[in-house]
Amino acid sequence: MEFIDLKKQYSILKDKIDENINQVLTDGTYIMGNKVKEFEKNIAEYVGTKYCVTCANGTDALSLALKTLDIKKGDAVFVPSFTFFATAEVVSNCGATPIFIDSDINTFNIDVNKIEKAIIDIKKENNLIPKAIIPVDLFGLPADFEKIEIIAKKYNLYIIEDGAQGFGGSIKGKKACSFGDIATTSFFPAKPLGCYGDGGAIFTNDEKIYHLLCSIRVHGKGKEKYDNIRIGVNSRLDTIQAAILLVKLEAFKSYELKDRNIVAQIYRDCLKDIVQNPYINQNFISSYAQYTIKLNSKEERDYLKLKLQEIEIPSMIYYPKPLHRQIVYEDYNFNLEDLKLSEKLSDIVLSLPMHPYLEEKDIINICDNIKKILKEFRTIK
Ligand SMILES: *Cc1c(COP(=O)(O)O)cnc(C)c1O
Repeated sequence: MEFIDLKKQYSILKDKIDENINQVLTDGTYIMGNKVKEFEKNIAEYVGTKYCVTCANGTDALSLALKTLDIKKGDAVFVPSFTFFATAEVVSNCGATPIFIDSDINTFNIDVNKIEKAIIDIKKENNLIPKAIIPVDLFGLPADFEKIEIIAKKYNLYIIEDGAQGFGGSIKGKKACSFGDIATTSFFPAKPLGCYGDGGAIFTNDEKIYHLLCSIRVHGKGKEKYDNIRIGVNSRLDTIQAAILLVKLEAFKSYELKDRNIVAQIYRDCLKDIVQNPYINQNFISSYAQYTIKLNSKEERDYLKLKLQEIEIPSMIYYPKPLHRQIVYEDYNFNLEDLKLSEKLSDIVLSLPMHPYLEEKDIINICDNIKKILKEFRTIK
């Protein structure tokens, strides 16, 4: 059994994907070909933003967003501690300082009730300027943008939505990757919408930001490629990846997102009395980048993972360490007392196999084994 079965997806979409890749091969426009533009148009339409600018990966998408907003040394950027490393790494890379915020124990997302205190504390200390919040749509569930927008407005902060895992989710029908001043996503193969290599995208409704992004992505170009009017980077989506994504986006829209939610519902029903299932806020839809359960203790979680492994059922710990505990941030000592829940989450979470091609009988088999293993563990204890 695969944790995420990409080969099965390919076998189903093979004819269309092969045809699209072959078109690129015969066209010869490997960099920024027509399929890149076509894909940018299609995905912006799906997400509901005016503009999409694709780039080389999801980390670059965040970096380009920070560069466009001129975030730099001396700026404070508020990020959840319980997330993938890239969310904070990009902040450090542009010289700014990530300020870690605890996560909500239910949603796994940035705890909106702890952001304001952190902003006030930073202002009081008076050596960093609060500039932006990067909420993450962790495991596919959008962060609580209604509340975050109120805080951002009050303190005049930018919002950059890290939608690397959130693609396809929504709040009251408004899609993930359409929140904030700029939103980003990743097409890493294992993400809800993945390509066959690296890829990423940035979304915005702001025309000025859009033009800046287009320039920065290609060496700070002006009207032409060899007219360089600012310092930029080289970060483009390959035309071949766009050709693959055009097919995958159609599958995602027509059935994959629905099927991810069906898989989640089967897990939810089977496991309801035995573990804590992921919590979904009212009026929110998750794209279930991961199906992440919570156990009673670290000991119980580790036992379950080990026993599943013995019978070849894969599971993953996302994430074994909150970012403020990573070695590069070991000097970090801001509001540590307030980061306890992200530490707790690292101890008790476990992500189960999740992809839209998972069959009901396999899900039930996984759940039956989980029940058996936990029963064992809980009677020994
Ligand atoms: C995967 C991921 C990224 C980075 O995307 P890459 O395409 O791998 O660079 C950023 N943020 C989060 C939350 C992610 O899960």
